[in-house]
Amino acid sequence: MNGMVPPAHFPFMPPFSHDGQMQHTLSQPISSVGTGLHTGARISLRLSPAAENTGIVFHRTDCAMPPVTARYDTVVDTQLSTVLGHGPQDARIATVEHLMAALAGCGIDNVLVEVDGPEIPVFDGSAAEFVFLLECAGRRQQEARRQQIHVTRPVRVEEGDAFAELTPATQPGLGIDISIDFPAAAIGQQRYATQVDSHLFREHLSRARTFVLQPEIEHLHAIGLARGGSLDNAVVVNGESVLNPAGLRHPDEFVRHKVLDAIGDLYLAGGLIEGHFRGHKSGHTLNNRLLLKLFADKANWHVVPAGTPAGQPCTQAA
Ligand SMILES: [Zn+2]
Repeated sequence: MNGMVPPAHFPFMPPFSHDGQMQHTLSQPISSVGTGLHTGARISLRLSPAAENTGIVFHRTDCAMPPVTARYDTVVDTQLSTVLGHGPQDARIATVEHLMAALAGCGIDNVLVEVDGPEIPVFDGSAAEFVFLLECAGRRQQEARRQQIHVTRPVRVEEGDAFAELTPATQPGLGIDISIDFPAAAIGQQRYATQVDSHLFREHLSRARTFVLQPEIEHLHAIGLARGGSLDNAVVVNGESVLNPAGLRHPDEFVRHKVLDAIGDLYLAGGLIEGHFRGHKSGHTLNNRLLLKLFADKANWHVVPAGTPAGQPCTQAA
């Protein structure tokens, strides 16, 4: 954030999912420059308004890659971050999840994201810079009604003792409940459960940084990844120690970041989900498998105009 604060007159964003039933885009374009986590390269990012029903579209300006819509079925890799592309062998755009989380948290439905490299800048490893950019650009209501995805029956994916599941909402909007359990004593067991709204996202989740274990980062450097990784864009943990001189932003910053990641990954549904997410040791891979399984069977979900109470019969959209 470099000490910058959004203009004080910016009207605070309404709640996450019931902030009005209309779609929103940005009031004006906005640009920034940051470092790519994996390439270490300087990357320019530009966010521009987009028409109703466009969704979130990513475009690389440095190569001939056709624009790609951010959706669970354009995810081509989830090993180190959530990566979008048209196919596993084609050009790609990595590390989209923190920007996607900020767009979800700020209630932006339609935007064109342009970068001149293969990944979104990592900034400080959280979503704070993206929220700052979105707030500076401003938010404009559009003419089309927002659509929401209601989860209508439980869907679950597992990997060992890790799992992620979506169940029908018991209250309006998206509920998230994530637990983690790391051998590193500085992280240990943490759990965070909440109903997501824009205020909570901005104040309690958006500044939570990604984290990495010291032995992992040494391995990534050895194989040529995380070249841009540093104490400036991740919390680095070694056993019971946090190596960042300024320490943590929240005592449970680790699990808060996992919640942030899940919000970004779930926004790849193509709209805001109304349902309850529960994850244990979950991450990008399970989050993506969960959406693939959700949308594989039309009995699991339906699309309704925003504001429709859960359980209401509705039109089935493809
Ligand atoms: Zn993350």
